[in-house]
Amino acid sequence: MNMQIQQAAMALKVARSTIALTGAGISVESGIPPFRGRGGLWEKIDPMKYAHIDAYERNPAEVWEVLFLGLIDVLGKAKSNDGHRGLVRLESMGRLQTIVTQNIDGLHQQAGSKDVIEFHGTFASMSCMTCGQATDSHQVSLEVLPPRCACGGVLRPDVVMFGEIIPLDHLQRAQMLASTCDAMLVVGTSATVEPAAYLPVIAKRSGATIIEINPEPTPLTDRISDITLLGEAGRVLRALVDAVKHILRD
Ligand code: NAD
Ligand code: ZN
Repeated sequence: MNMQIQQAAMALKVARSTIALTGAGISVESGIPPFRGRGGLWEKIDPMKYAHIDAYERNPAEVWEVLFLGLIDVLGKAKSNDGHRGLVRLESMGRLQTIVTQNIDGLHQQAGSKDVIEFHGTFASMSCMTCGQATDSHQVSLEVLPPRCACGGVLRPDVVMFGEIIPLDHLQRAQMLASTCDAMLVVGTSATVEPAAYLPVIAKRSGATIIEINPEPTPLTDRISDITLLGEAGRVLRALVDAVKHILRD
């Protein structure tokens, strides 16, 4: 592990541009369960039934009751952890430029990261399905479900649901960064949800060094990843940041 940390730190030192792709795993230590794997939300709820835009259009109140109310409760209590903070420290050292996150929890911004592409949107705001007006989620009353806009239309959280496409500006910018970076940190993602899972492949093909941080192997491990740091995001990023600091002094 120590050797791999050193290798990863060296790759971050020499890279002119580094981006991070993060997934639900980086927020596990903040108390937010991932979707897949042990304790994952999908063990209890069928995503196609409740996290699909068709389900929301058919019966928004039911999706709120089964899925969104619980999520809002968990997200509201969560605080950023050492994994999020490690990425902030790399940014402040000039060793990380942008984070592409699949998370909808806002914890990278809470920790202080400045350039975050929210690939799957955010729970921080909601939009009217009739007139398009966006509202800060804190301003929305959830006493009667589904929540409604002043125009009477149904409000939806600004997250990308199954059956929807990634906003084009996010997709294009993320692909452009992936194809031009020298190093990519892939943290806490099972790399199974497209098109996010394809970003490391684009980076690899363009010659970037792929550094993966995850307690378990993923489909990227040994195929796409050049360096795999097995372990929890918080602990591994703490060690990696210390190694980068050390190496930058030399
Ligand atoms: P995923 O649930 O498919 O995979 C989570 C990954 O994190 C797994 O590979 C697991 O081994 C790893 N992991 C578990 N604990 C970890 C830790 N302490 N440190 C580092 N890694 C750890 O998640 P995904 O790949 O992000 O894709 C699924 C979708 O889930 C995304 O679309 C995302 O929008 C959504 N999601 C978001 C949140 C959130 O906002 N926090 C939570 C759950 C799901
Ligand atoms: Zn409206």
